[in-house]
Amino acid sequence: MNSTWDCIVVGAGAAGLSAGLVLGRARRRTLVVDAEGQSNRVAGGIGGLLGHDTRPPVDFYAAGRAELAAYPSVELRFGEVARGERNDDDFTLELADGSSETARRVLLATGMDYRYPTLPGIEERWGRSVFHCPFCHGWEHRDEPLAALDRGA
Ligand SMILES: Cc1cc2nc3c(=O)[nH]c(=O)nc-3n(C[C@H](O)[C@H](O)[C@H](O)COP(=O)(O)OP(=O)(O)OC[C@H]3O[C@@H](n4cnc5c(N)ncnc54)[C@H](O)[C@@H]3O)c2cc1C
Repeated sequence: MNSTWDCIVVGAGAAGLSAGLVLGRARRRTLVVDAEGQSNRVAGGIGGLLGHDTRPPVDFYAAGRAELAAYPSVELRFGEVARGERNDDDFTLELADGSSETARRVLLATGMDYRYPTLPGIEERWGRSVFHCPFCHGWEHRDEPLAALDRGA
């Protein structure tokens, strides 16, 4: 059997899980690799995602993984892609555990690296009462005092 995947999806947040679902339904041999670091995991609920409003992120990801499990051509693996290179006809990705995989296509769904200011109190409140976005979590804190933080004066 050909050991080259049709696609390796790097990351299994909302984007990577969605990609895996669509590829599975298209019967593509797909490997989804995830380091389990979705950026909203610390939040108590997802705000503003139709059909999932206020749902805890961990529940949302568990449900997404369960949906992928119905498609036999898709494998979800927990781990980190450490590096990758393009060959003539495919790509080789190396995982942090030392294994390597090849694929005809690679889809990067690695999310954003949110960096908050290194001020006292921010880290432990991040995703709870300090947020990157008022549209996601403003509702839960409506009518409370609000401070907006930005760079510069
Ligand atoms: C605190 C917080 C709260 C948020 N709340 C909301 C909200 O309520 N509503 C909303 O719409 N949006 C919210 N967001 C934005 C939200 O996180 C994004 O909309 C959404 O999670 C993006 O999904 P994603 O799949 O692109 O990335 P992510 O969910 O970040 O997933 C990326 C995945 O890729 C993995 N990954 C990265 N690099 C590698 C690698 N080299 N190898 C393997 N895996 C890798 C990560 O571990 C992670 O699991 C919030 C963001 C933050 C920071």
